[in-house]
Amino acid sequence: MFHHMPVPDSTVGDLLDALLRAGPACRGDAALADLFVSPDAFEEEPDEVRRVREKAAKTVCLSCPARAACLSYALAVNPDDGVWAGLTSYQLRRRAARVRRASAVPVTEVPA
Ligand code: SF4
Repeated sequence: MFHHMPVPDSTVGDLLDALLRAGPACRGDAALADLFVSPDAFEEEPDEVRRVREKAAKTVCLSCPARAACLSYALAVNPDDGVWAGLTSYQLRRRAARVRRASAVPVTEVPA
């Protein structure tokens, strides 16, 4: 699966540098940053609370100047949690799977 494919550290570092240079809207404000990730493992987050939180985070992403860089970084690191570039980690995995399927080389011959 895509998220198990090794990504060179230098590539991840470059993508993170590009993301930080682009001016992430979610950076620098702890209250705002809390919108983007689930509470810690010892704190239960009801589904409806999570939906509201993620929707608020996605709204911030809509006008974030770093959105494209954020998507590239998130697709490279495949986060387990959070909202990235307007997508949840689950939505990111689905997008990565679609990209992988679209770029797969079709098998036209079956070896004898
Ligand atoms: S797109 Fe969203 S998650 Fe990514 S840097 Fe911007 S505000 Fe943060």
